[in-house]
Amino acid sequence: MALLPCVFGPHHFRGKSGSVYPAIIDRSENTRWKFRVCDKHGQVVQEGLKDFEVSDENPVTIEAESRWVCPSCLNIVQDLYKSLYVTAYYPGQERRDYWAKLHQNCGAPAWLPYTEASPPLPG
Ligand SMILES: [Zn+2]
Ligand SMILES: [Zn+2]
Repeated sequence: MALLPCVFGPHHFRGKSGSVYPAIIDRSENTRWKFRVCDKHGQVVQEGLKDFEVSDENPVTIEAESRWVCPSCLNIVQDLYKSLYVTAYYPGQERRDYWAKLHQNCGAPAWLPYTEASPPLPG
């Protein structure tokens, strides 16, 4: 089995890998990137995002209080400045989708690492 890089650490691992595709939409400015995670660090991402999952059982309701928490600093976001969208494929799992609000001055949370090794994707 191939040795794969995990963005956390960074380190290498064998076994099932996951892929995470975050995007920060700041009005017209889009920043998208992606990174690979091992099983253990996929759980770190999943834990950080758990209140922001969008699914049939948990549709986007802008009124829901958890939707007003900034995932980067965990303070309430009063106005919608920036949105964080994440599509994640954790090791061995189906696709998951997330949406959260960010403060104007907040970037991606530490558990969604943006590195030189994960260059922005076009679009
Ligand atoms: Zn890892
Ligand atoms: Zn914030």
